[in-house]
Order: sequence, then structure tokens, then C-alpha cells
Amino acid sequence: MAVDQELLEILACPLCKEEVKLVPLPEAKRGPIRDKFRDKFRGEEPVVEEGLQCVKCRRVYPIVSDIPVMLVEEALDE
Ligand SMILES: [Zn+2]
Repeated sequence: MAVDQELLEILACPLCKEEVKLVPLPEAKRGPIRDKFRDKFRGEEPVVEEGLQCVKCRRVYPIVSDIPVMLVEEALDE
């Protein structure tokens, strides 16, 4: 499973409205994101492997179980 290419093209950084690119998330960042989203997935283990990085501000928006989380408060500063 992967994020749809067409979806990727319409997604943008909510802060700068710039395009985002698919990047692998560092192992160290995956655990805390999984912990945070586990409750919202009703006990199902969230899949956290990739994120979407803004080409301008470099924030990374995590993709959780194929759902891009385009929220500034959930973004990782890189
Ligand atoms: Zn941005």
C-alpha cells in the first residue's frame, strides 16, 4: 500500500502552500508517532514509515496507515 500519486500531487504544506515530497521517516521518529496515533486507530497498530516533506519549510508531515496527516501541530521539524 502506498499513498496515491494523484493525491500526492494535490497535497500541499498547510503553512507555505508549497509542494510536498515523499520521504522515509527516521526510525527514531516512527515510534512516538505510532504511540500518538494508536488510540485513534482503535487498537490497530498504525503503520508509520514515510512522511511528506515540504520543499520550502522542510517540515515533515507523517503518513499514518496511508493517511497523510497534513497538520502543522503534528509535523516534524527537520
Ligand atoms: Zn512548508
